Amino acid sequence: MSEIPHYLREGFITLEELKKAIELPSEERLRKRPVAIPECPQEIPCTPCKEICPTNAVLMENPNATPIVDYEKCIGCSLCVQICPGLAFFMIHYVGDKARVTMPHELLPVPKVGEEVILLNRVGEEVGRGKVITVVPRGKSKGDTPIITVEMPIELAWDVRAVKVVRE
Ligand code: SF4
Ligand code: SF4
Repeated sequence: MSEIPHYLREGFITLEELKKAIELPSEERLRKRPVAIPECPQEIPCTPCKEICPTNAVLMENPNATPIVDYEKCIGCSLCVQICPGLAFFMIHYVGDKARVTMPHELLPVPKVGEEVILLNRVGEEVGRGKVITVVPRGKSKGDTPIITVEMPIELAWDVRAVKVVRE
C-alpha cells in the first residue's frame, strides 16, 4: 500500500512537497510581475482555476489533473486565487527586499488596506508582521472568499500562507 502523503495526513503542504509537485518560478520572473502559484497536489475533479484564467496560463491535462501554471503567460490578475474553492492558489511578487503575497482570507475580521497583520506560516505559527496592500472583499471576489495581498520580508514569501488580524 502506498504511503499517505504528508499534506493529506497533516492538512498542509510543506515547501519541500510543493517543490516536488511543481517547478517554482525563477527569481527573475518573481521580480517581473505578480505570478500565480498553484499549491494543489491532489488529483481531484476540479477545474475553476483553469476555466477562469484569461490567458490560458493554467494547464491541466484532464479535469482530474493537478494544475500547472505557465509563468510566462500569467498576467497576475489574481482570478485563480479568487475562484479556487480549495484556497490553494497564491500569487507572489518580489519588490526590492519585500515580497507581496496574495492569498485567500477566510477568517474574520477581514483586514483593511494599510493595516499591520501577524504573518502565519503553513502550520499556523506566527512568523512576523506584514502590511496589507490590497483587499478584494467578498462580493467583489469571483469566489466566496476575500483575497488579500500582504507585503512582508522577502525571506518569508514561501512560508506565509495566512494572516491574523489583531486589533487592540
Ligand atoms: S493570476 Fe490570472 S493570468 Fe495568472 S494564472 Fe491566475 S488567472 Fe491566470
Ligand atoms: S480550483 Fe483550486 S482546488 Fe480546484 S484544481 Fe484549481 S487549484 Fe486545485
